[in-house]
Amino acid sequence: MTTIEPAFHTGRPISTDSASDSPPANGTTLAASSSPLLAGEGLGVRSLEFGVIGNYVGGQWSVPDGSQLQDVFNPATAKRHAQVAISNGAEVVRAVDAAQAAFPEWRRTPPVERVRPFFKLKELMEAHFEDVSRAITQDHGKTLDDARGEVRRAIENVEVACGITTLQMGYGLEDGAARGIDEWAIRTPLGVFAAICPFNFPAMVPFWFLPYAVATGNTFIVKPSEQVPVALLKIFELIHQAGFPPGVLNLVNGSRETVDALLDEPRIQGISFVGSSPVAKYIYTRASANGKRVQAQGGAKNCLVIMPDAVPVLDKAVPNILGSSFGAAGQRCLAGSMLITVEGAHKAALEAVVEASRKIKVGYGLDPGVDLGPVVSAGAKQRIGGHIAEGEKAGARAVLDGRGASVQGYEEGYFLGPTILDGVDAEMPLSQTEIFGPVLSVTQAPTLQDAIDRINASPFGNAASIYTQSGRAAREFRYNVVAGNIGINVGVAAPMAYFPFAGMKGSFFGTLHGQGRDAVTFFTDTKVVVERWL
Ligand code: NAD
Repeated sequence: MTTIEPAFHTGRPISTDSASDSPPANGTTLAASSSPLLAGEGLGVRSLEFGVIGNYVGGQWSVPDGSQLQDVFNPATAKRHAQVAISNGAEVVRAVDAAQAAFPEWRRTPPVERVRPFFKLKELMEAHFEDVSRAITQDHGKTLDDARGEVRRAIENVEVACGITTLQMGYGLEDGAARGIDEWAIRTPLGVFAAICPFNFPAMVPFWFLPYAVATGNTFIVKPSEQVPVALLKIFELIHQAGFPPGVLNLVNGSRETVDALLDEPRIQGISFVGSSPVAKYIYTRASANGKRVQAQGGAKNCLVIMPDAVPVLDKAVPNILGSSFGAAGQRCLAGSMLITVEGAHKAALEAVVEASRKIKVGYGLDPGVDLGPVVSAGAKQRIGGHIAEGEKAGARAVLDGRGASVQGYEEGYFLGPTILDGVDAEMPLSQTEIFGPVLSVTQAPTLQDAIDRINASPFGNAASIYTQSGRAAREFRYNVVAGNIGINVGVAAPMAYFPFAGMKGSFFGTLHGQGRDAVTFFTDTKVVVERWL
């Protein structure tokens, strides 16, 4: 049994047989020679393993003229393995031109035909499942099992969007307006949409939006995080093969300048964003001032509450808590970053969590048996270390300190071991800070109500979980906590593709969330028809 429980249960057993650095046995690796990454050939960077990552616009790969190139690192080895082209405003205009040109014909394509390339895409993503998963581990650092869970979630969103013929259907009423006058509502696409994505789920987050936007008849532009561009590039190779008409789906790599150009481009109807709260707020403000629809999902500080009645079942709760707090090195927006022990639960819970955390194996995510990979960058490692020091300075006690972690063979990697800070009380600034690393803060609350009050005092409202054997306590928690995703004895309350990925307070700016029915509504407008025949 692994020490930490995987967060992404896929409903099917996950084999770890190929969790080594050798290529997968089924030969699904996309050969470098056929890869558009070699768009960098002309730039004299062939010596890199991957070359330069360019854009996919109007069905063609290219590296935009005059692009700045940004290095992309494998966080386990600290070695550069690619460069990504940072697109300027002119490249955004080119992508919007392509998406805008493709829209009228794509909109006219019957929904039943629009989903056919998505059926093909699902097949291709299944066939290249290992290859994409491995690319995520190499770019982001998370373990291969975690990366597989992420790719599974991306595929599930494709599967759900394949039902768009039903999901997009409107409603009508005979004689709805008056005798002999019928009325109905139609959900119609709007045009070009764009998504701006974070580093922590390079494959999954774009799929909270992309399948719904495109299946409903819109055309789409995705900007991945410049820190982890490889997985989406591989997926766009599959998108190219799936048979979408040119311009329907476009990939534009870049950073802030690229984002601003997307926010200001008048032909883009709506923006989907996932990332940190300050940037989410900025995106929401700027894009909505430009008249766009916006859904902007932000950061988090998620609490896990342990009730005294959960102490007898700590053997089951603790692996789940560890999976929540240390899975993907704590770089999940649903990561449990604060443990609140209620009444007498503190001693037993803290001891059990610390003891189990000591057994977590830190290492390269492609190596078998590893529970915890590196954090995404040298900068992230330094920032997280700074937060731990800040907590100590404010009076918290590092009962487990991962700052000295070192992995044999990968001494330069951005590793941090699991860290547990006890006594992170409400008045400490750290208790309100998103650390986004393998750090679990611990605090005590005299009652469940105090724990709920503490959660609700947070500026964030992404997720919260309770461990209890009491239905009454669980209901009180679910009913009173102001957070979008609630876990009852579940540390990572990750909504499935057919539910919205919720979020409240400073964790979400907008009205309609990603995934499921919310996404279908976001990407369509309602046209009401009142019809009479004279
Ligand atoms: P980030 O906000 O730094 O970057 C997200 C995207 O915005 C990237 O594509 C980046 O290029 C762009 N960007 C960054 N700064 C910008 C600026 N000043 N102006 C314009 N664009 C800018 O986030 P990140 O570090 O990539 O991702 C981690 C964050 O995402 C965490 O806060 C995490 O909680 C959050 N997240 C939230 C959810 C959710 O569903 N709520 C899901 C995943 C991640």
